[in-house]
Amino acid sequence: MQNLYNRVLRGEFLSIEDALRLYISAPLAELMAVAHRMRMQIHPQKIVTWQIDRNVNTTNVCVSGCKFCNFHCRLAETDKSYVTTMEQYRTKIEEMYALGGEQLLIQGGMHPHLGVEYYEDLFRALKKEYPWLKLNALGAPEVHHLARMAKCDYAEILARLRRAGLDSLPGAGAEILDNEVRRRISPGKCSADEWVEVMRTAQSMGIPTTATMMYGHVETPRQRIEHLLIIRDLGNFTAFIPWAYQGRGTRLEKEGCAGGNNAAEYLRLIAISRLLLPNIRNIQASWLTMGVQSALMALHCGANDMGSIMIEENVVSAAGSFNTLDSERMEQAIRAAGFTPALRDQQYNLSERLPR
Ligand code: SF4
Repeated sequence: MQNLYNRVLRGEFLSIEDALRLYISAPLAELMAVAHRMRMQIHPQKIVTWQIDRNVNTTNVCVSGCKFCNFHCRLAETDKSYVTTMEQYRTKIEEMYALGGEQLLIQGGMHPHLGVEYYEDLFRALKKEYPWLKLNALGAPEVHHLARMAKCDYAEILARLRRAGLDSLPGAGAEILDNEVRRRISPGKCSADEWVEVMRTAQSMGIPTTATMMYGHVETPRQRIEHLLIIRDLGNFTAFIPWAYQGRGTRLEKEGCAGGNNAAEYLRLIAISRLLLPNIRNIQASWLTMGVQSALMALHCGANDMGSIMIEENVVSAAGSFNTLDSERMEQAIRAAGFTPALRDQQYNLSERLPR
């Protein structure tokens, strides 16, 4: 193990076999200590960053039908379905602005009737009314969906969205980047190769991207590590954000896959992510899904960012995760864990909280 620890601390890219051995066999306490050492090499100051943004869902209508998702519904379910109106965006943006935020995380279902023109009009309208607003919007599966509807390539969709106001592309919808796993849990979503291709295209166009991972369902330890190595080999992500699948009430739970919060498994995953991704500067702790206490422990084994306070969230709460943090409690929690909180923007630049 010592040889593997030395190699990852030098920033070496491990092979799949070595990475898997490290993940499976290293004692948790050692793995956490080495990951924290690497975090302090990359970020020598004991600063933990956080952000104020607002999650807004465009629509809950989705043709994908992922088995882990309680949020979506079909177009025919008219009693449940919605498309967020401009008036609702205005209210949400003004509430966020009053709290010091300047970015919307816009995500939602893959609606069969909302094509790229819809999102172009939406982004343009938002930017016209709120020129200061940053749009961290859609994700690889949605870009793939829009490209398929418009019968054009990813570069064209991304170029049109960027011209309309897209600032960055979130890393959502990665789950586990393995086609067999995706066939089992989200057969209607883009394949692993398509997710990678959207991200590669976005990065080649200079659009900032993050990457995620949802583990703890049907995947094997090897598939987790392969996911990490795909993210590493693609590189260029501003941050990596892993979390555990939350299964309450989902179709996947009914099929026998309960998921949930196993803190030890989460800390091992955070630590191995830090160690296997030397080319990705930021590892984000997911307090929303894993709980604040687990997220604070993650700050001691590789994570250096706590993500955003949550003004609104509809997707993981639909699967039984109800954690909340406002700005004050976020800063208190980071201090209680022994770090100095620092507000950041989407590019992980430190920023001042604007007086409102
Ligand atoms: S996770 Fe996203 S893509 Fe999958 S069904 Fe839910 S809304 Fe649709």
